[in-house]
Amino acid sequence: MKAQAKCCTYTEKDILTPGSKLFLVSSMVLFIQTAKHSPESCPRHNATMKKIYKNFNAKLGALTKKHGIKVVGGWAITQEHVTITIFEVPDPRSMIKFMSDPETSTWQSYQIIKTRPVVTLEEAMKMLK
Ligand SMILES: [Zn+2]
Repeated sequence: MKAQAKCCTYTEKDILTPGSKLFLVSSMVLFIQTAKHSPESCPRHNATMKKIYKNFNAKLGALTKKHGIKVVGGWAITQEHVTITIFEVPDPRSMIKFMSDPETSTWQSYQIIKTRPVVTLEEAMKMLK
């Protein structure tokens, strides 16, 4: 698999759909982000990628603070070369700004990234009323 930049395939319009129920059930929006890299670009085996990952991870706290978002948690499925991160975001535009920040571009450029707003099951049940 060749590394591709798929970071910004969504727009503000995709997230801020008029009448979106996301904004009716919660003042905070959760985003789940999956990032997949190729085996060739795995930071466990690729020295360049290891440096990029370590550099990004060192800046992550400052970047999330800059954009007013919070990392709820992060996990790695190492055998599939996938990381999963959940963000808590007060305003979806902050997530777009975070993902558009030049400091994230190098890290993103070697991965296929999907970032989607999610709701808890409890919030989803409220939407059924
Ligand atoms: Zn890997």
